[in-house]
Amino acid sequence: MAASPVTATVDFAARGKQFGHLRVPHSRNDHGWAVIPIPIVVIANGTGATVLLSAGNHGDEYEGQVALLDLARTLDPGQLQGRVILLPAMHFPAALAGTRLSPLDNRDFNRCFPGDPFGSFAFVLAHYVDSVLLALCDFQMDLHSGGTGMDIIASACGHVLDDAGQQAKTLAMADAFGAPITLLLREVNAGPTLLAAAERRGIVALSSELGGGGRLNPDNYRITRRGAENVLRHAGVLEGPPRHDRPPRRMTVPSLDHYVIAPEAGIFQADHRLGADVRKGEVAGRLHFIEKPDRAPLELSYGAGGLLWCTRHVGRVQAGDPVAVIAVDL
Ligand SMILES: [Zn+2]
Repeated sequence: MAASPVTATVDFAARGKQFGHLRVPHSRNDHGWAVIPIPIVVIANGTGATVLLSAGNHGDEYEGQVALLDLARTLDPGQLQGRVILLPAMHFPAALAGTRLSPLDNRDFNRCFPGDPFGSFAFVLAHYVDSVLLALCDFQMDLHSGGTGMDIIASACGHVLDDAGQQAKTLAMADAFGAPITLLLREVNAGPTLLAAAERRGIVALSSELGGGGRLNPDNYRITRRGAENVLRHAGVLEGPPRHDRPPRRMTVPSLDHYVIAPEAGIFQADHRLGADVRKGEVAGRLHFIEKPDRAPLELSYGAGGLLWCTRHVGRVQAGDPVAVIAVDL
């Protein structure tokens, strides 16, 4: 594939702390040579692993964005052995807008990997992140939460992998992050995600779910900020062991039967709070149809029992929307 048109104002080989930008071409009606500058921070010292920490993949997920801003300001290069690359607002147009999708091309950045240097803005950026930044990395973590639409129990997440060795490394880093739950996920359409791109390169890689509802949750912020440093300790870039309150609970979402999906559009009324223990076949909630007052609500039930790990935050749902996701112990 062709080289990326993206350029960086930082030197990835230099030591010390650099605040700079990735310049991603974005042609407009009034300027054909315009670029969108995406903030990047590189902090390096001595020799050791390279860790990429990113947030703002989805612009309406805030814990990671603020945690990485704080890490960028406070991390002292003298403390490090290795290199830390921080992208606090990776999909910058979406992060500025506070939206999941890009206001430029309406793309979900986390469905654009491995990207395309001749594609739209999100594809060009994804291609750079994959072919240039991931190529530098030993460890990578992309900080997500439930965004505007979902509420999720704070979790460090990896995919269910075929390679047992890579799976063990993923679990070890997720435990080191130190969220209440370490979770292995079978995801709807995992292939074009950043996490899958990192896995294809053999990088020890994680995502996360750290709250949601379109807000910055203070408890989950503390987990995220501590977790980001814990990943650096796990990679040997910072000294000392990861710091935890208690060991994470290892869980998995083993199949799509663990998702409750709305078969029609309507207003979803959940029967349970996030974190409830639920049984297979139990009513998960009801869909209401305001356009048909004579129609009874439609009951939706759980296809599997376990912990209600993720719930719909916004009341109105479309046909095909997951309204609940169940996790079970690994
Ligand atoms: Zn996300």
